Amino acid sequence: MSTAPTPAPARVLVLNSGSSSVKYQLLDMRGGERLAQGLVERIGEETSRLAHTPLLGGGSAPRERTGPIPDHAAALKAVAEELAADGLGLDSPELAAIGHRVVHGGLRFTEPTVIDDAVIAEIERLVPVAPLHNPANLLGIRTAMAMRPDLPQVAVFDTAFHTTMPESAARYAIDVETADAHRIRRYGFHGTSHAYVSRATARLLGKEPEEVNVIVLHLGNGASASAVRGGRCVDTSMGLTPLEGLVMGTRSGDVDPAVTFHLKRVAGMSADEIDVLLNQRSGLVGLCGDNDMREIQRRIEAGDERAALAFDIYVHRLKKYIGAYYAVLGRVDAVAFTAGVGENAAAVRAAAVAGLEELGLAVDAGLNAERSREPRLISPAYARVAVAVVPTDEELEIARQTFALTRGQVND
Ligand code: AMP
Repeated sequence: MSTAPTPAPARVLVLNSGSSSVKYQLLDMRGGERLAQGLVERIGEETSRLAHTPLLGGGSAPRERTGPIPDHAAALKAVAEELAADGLGLDSPELAAIGHRVVHGGLRFTEPTVIDDAVIAEIERLVPVAPLHNPANLLGIRTAMAMRPDLPQVAVFDTAFHTTMPESAARYAIDVETADAHRIRRYGFHGTSHAYVSRATARLLGKEPEEVNVIVLHLGNGASASAVRGGRCVDTSMGLTPLEGLVMGTRSGDVDPAVTFHLKRVAGMSADEIDVLLNQRSGLVGLCGDNDMREIQRRIEAGDERAALAFDIYVHRLKKYIGAYYAVLGRVDAVAFTAGVGENAAAVRAAAVAGLEELGLAVDAGLNAERSREPRLISPAYARVAVAVVPTDEELEIARQTFALTRGQVND
């Protein structure tokens, strides 16, 4: 008598580990269904918190745990317990793989990569260019590998999508020997989002990614733009670190690099103090005291001039990058807005393309005002260039890439 074949494992756990937080999602890749998601924050403090949301079968109420979670190992153990309570334990044979978001993959990692000791050593070697992110990502990787050493685990790099940039876009015009000795160049970040959104935009236009040129504007608390030609990134606004480019929630984006040594010489600030200034006390929060675009819009409506100026500076920079990437691409099929601000702030989208009719860009006020979680066009039918709102989904993209890479191994 033959027994029914057991279905191949198809669940993927996605982990996004920060220095004091772990975000996670469990997905079933057979139907792309989300089974659970959650966040552990303030790891290492007395007031740690785990918020877990079961999503299976329409979902149920979020559960919360508070109290000290001393380290990442304890955090993952708590996550595993929450998942197990929903019948989704990490020891389940249905778990196919774990996908880890890794911020910096340098030039070596152009694709998602199954993690082994050599890969861990290389991610470690990149710590000097990503001192905040890579050590935290490694903590998550090591902890998860200790928990399930038998399971394929995959690193999906924020930089990978940008490794196709030509040298003309990736190199800074500084002394070549110094740059090479210290691996100084434009790497770009948010790559998983830029990849996902540029492909989803092509689909929205009824085309293949190879057929279209897209400017992607990822506007979240961090923000970056990219120029994508035929599915490949040819330029992006973040650089050696996620500080360069657009105005962000707390980061300055582009400034004259001389600002840094001016502050050192004139204000007596240390490198670390300048780092904090530009990364944490600049951008929208530095300009007006708020980094949340919703609050800024409320203040503008109430007549607040500082908030209005912060908004104008934000939009001016955005418009400059649209123009720059239009020139880089030569022909643009679509401009796609994504992430918290890009998906929700109609006023930012309208202001960013205002006055660009000569470039074929326009926004239809009615379509722009509609709220939806679906990818959609907001440009009028006559516009030569499509303007789109395309919700990003980095977890789904990480899960897909992880599953695609490990399916073979799992089935073998
Ligand atoms: P993200 O990093 O993609 O989660 O984006 C977070 C940011 O999105 C917040 O700091 C807000 O500035 C912005 N945001 C979220 N929802 C809205 C909204 N409804 N309107 C305007 N901005 C929003």
